[in-house]
Amino acid sequence: MSRLIVFVFLILILFITLQYLVRGMAALKKKSSREFEPEELVQDPHCQTYIPKKSALKKRIAGELLYFCNQGCMENYMNKTVKKG
Ligand SMILES: [Zn+2]
Repeated sequence: MSRLIVFVFLILILFITLQYLVRGMAALKKKSSREFEPEELVQDPHCQTYIPKKSALKKRIAGELLYFCNQGCMENYMNKTVKKG
């Protein structure tokens, strides 16, 4: 009788271990399948600096979407374009 209890106990441990392994592998797969996004660079039309699109300031000027490295560049560029006509 005690042998059966040990056997059942071992099966239970094996089952739990397998479940953990499967979960761990699934989590790992999920993590690795996450696609790597290459950082897209955009040029600041004011200071000609290349900046990552994500961190750039977006501004639509005359129907064209422009990217700036900071607020100062955006304002300077806008002032320049307004002066130009
Ligand atoms: Zn700039």
